[in-house]
Amino acid sequence: MKQSSSSSYDLVVVGGGPAGVIAALRGRELGASVALIERSRLGGTCTNDGCVPTRVLARAARLAREAEQFARYGLDAPPPTLEFDRLMQRTQQIVYTIQEKKQLVKGLREAGVAVFTEAGAAYFEDGHTLRDQAGRRYGADRVILCAGGRARRLDFPGAQYALTHSDVWSLKKLPRSVAIIGAAATGCQLASIFTAFGAQVWLLELAPRLLPGEDAAVSQTMRQAFEERGVCIQTGIQSVERIEPRQGFYEVLYRDGGQVQSVLAEVVVLSVGWPGNLEPLNLPAAGVNTERGYISVDDCLRTSASHVYAAGDITGRMMLVQSAGYEARIAVENALRSPGECQPYRHQIVPHGGFTDPEYGSVGLTEEKARQVEPDCLVSLVYYAELDRAVIDGLPVGFCKLIASLRNGRILGVHVAGEQALEVVHLVAAGMSAGMQVQQLAELEIAYPTYTAVLGLAARRLIAQVGGGPNLAPEWRSLGKTPLVEWERRDAGPAV
Ligand SMILES: Cc1cc2nc3c(=O)[nH]c(=O)nc-3n(C[C@H](O)[C@H](O)[C@H](O)COP(=O)(O)OP(=O)(O)OC[C@H]3O[C@@H](n4cnc5c(N)ncnc54)[C@H](O)[C@@H]3O)c2cc1C
Repeated sequence: MKQSSSSSYDLVVVGGGPAGVIAALRGRELGASVALIERSRLGGTCTNDGCVPTRVLARAARLAREAEQFARYGLDAPPPTLEFDRLMQRTQQIVYTIQEKKQLVKGLREAGVAVFTEAGAAYFEDGHTLRDQAGRRYGADRVILCAGGRARRLDFPGAQYALTHSDVWSLKKLPRSVAIIGAAATGCQLASIFTAFGAQVWLLELAPRLLPGEDAAVSQTMRQAFEERGVCIQTGIQSVERIEPRQGFYEVLYRDGGQVQSVLAEVVVLSVGWPGNLEPLNLPAAGVNTERGYISVDDCLRTSASHVYAAGDITGRMMLVQSAGYEARIAVENALRSPGECQPYRHQIVPHGGFTDPEYGSVGLTEEKARQVEPDCLVSLVYYAELDRAVIDGLPVGFCKLIASLRNGRILGVHVAGEQALEVVHLVAAGMSAGMQVQQLAELEIAYPTYTAVLGLAARRLIAQVGGGPNLAPEWRSLGKTPLVEWERRDAGPAV
């Protein structure tokens, strides 16, 4: 029988991923006594199972692709061969190095947080008491739930044969062929990585396009780039019917256009969503409601139990590291405020993207959403083929789409697919948060030759394109009449 010990805290945080760590630190900054319970290691999905290990594979994929360019730049070397087990070792080593670098346990303890790792799943005994699997009992005035999520599994026949991205880290060898079900961010990253390593990849997606949450031009460019690399893509399928083992392979049967079709692959990966880690928490004991697989929260990140808040992936709002940290800070501040006071959270400017080939990055509204708000918003497009830096580097695939308001010149969104896309969009993110107008972006002396210069080009093109409409401020009109001065050639690149 396990011993039961008991301590009481102002704040108990469940989960030690990005949200939980930030919540615990913010709680201490605000003077609360804080306990953090983590069922396994600190760092969460981000460090142990998601961003970091995926990025290591993406880096290897990247190096393999760069080697393809050697001959074009006068370098003689044999094409690299992949030793998959060494790459997997490197992946685990980097996860470990990043944990060591962060020293989360030490940092939290130095801040005065009572940290309990490898505690097994924590759960509510009653509204103000939590327990862990080691038998410890935690009295809690307030609770912040940051238990994250996990890869969704489906229950069609044979679904047990499918892996999720979490199983990729323990593969013993590179599969010759991979069928990936789900073409959102994780599915596309895995498709890009396995293709670069030489596997034949199939991507199956229910939505009409890849990356359905992104601007349509991003989806189209990614599809074109993937297909050029040999990925077989089926979007708009109706359902996955079943998976059947076939002599060392798996046959995925799916319904498309009323017909049952199939693909045969050595490995099948499911990448079809990310529900919250709800079940072990025994939420009914605390009166915490859930909705469609996530904890329901209001604008203050408060749950249906007034002393329990939630942040990060478990709220199902914005599944990103930076957003988890932002929500955690707001949740703790609200939890520790006087009753009735609340600082609402707003995910307004959230740069994000994926480390595919080519990369993509976005911030703000897609063109479709921008037109719902402002049908006559301004949109300009610059192809990477027009950018000197992309030509120099031999990486001309991609584009930048800039969207701005015709009413006030404010930037509404930017979408970039191409080299360093995710870095490039941050300039616009910073500008948007400062209320930047497109003419300020157009006038910025962006270093040459850089990928970021695509933004200046897109801004100048956008202004030149309107030429000074009646709604534009006078300074816009004069800028609009100025001929475009650019080094880059202006004929059309590949269709977007
Ligand atoms: C393959 C992949 C790649 C990704 N790449 C990126 C990227 O490049 N950039 C980006 O911004 N985001 C990325 N993400 C998303 C990112 O990982 C998450 O948004 C982020 O980790 C969410 O943080 P969190 O703290 O809410 O949850 P998590 O990081 O999942 O942390 C939750 C923690 O709670 C613990 N826990 C769960 N239940 C309990 C319990 N009952 N008791 C105690 N502890 C519990 C878990 O062990 C875990 O440590 C990626 C995700 C995946 C799957």
